[in-house]
Amino acid sequence: MTDCLFCKIVAGDIPAEIVLVTDTVLAFRDINPQAPVHVLVIPKEHVADVRAVAPEHGRVLVDMIDAADQIGAEAPGGYRLVFNVGPDAGQTVFHLHMHVLGGRPMGWPPG
Ligand code: AMP
Ligand code: ZN
Repeated sequence: MTDCLFCKIVAGDIPAEIVLVTDTVLAFRDINPQAPVHVLVIPKEHVADVRAVAPEHGRVLVDMIDAADQIGAEAPGGYRLVFNVGPDAGQTVFHLHMHVLGGRPMGWPPG
């Protein structure tokens, strides 16, 4: 999608601090980090959000989780995976992305 911020990062049209790339996924540091480790894992193909996920996305979802686990090595104490879905959750970008947060203790319930 030409007007999608994260598709532009995939295309290299907008710079990002990329930490991992595979044939299906890209991972880059969040521009506004909420923890010492805050990486976004996205499918290279445009998928709008969790609500648009369908059975054909099975492989890319597994690849996203595998990428997150590799990134999790930066946070030996553990990490949290977050999908924000909809306004109450604070979703701002409509290209599927999973937040990988770690490097500090995190409270529960989340804010
Ligand atoms: P969400 O609120 O779940 O939709 O998450 C969107 C995330 O994208 C936020 O944490 C933003 O800080 C992050 N973000 C927005 N623009 C960029 C960018 N150009 N590079 C890296 N992260 C970004
Ligand atoms: Zn996109």
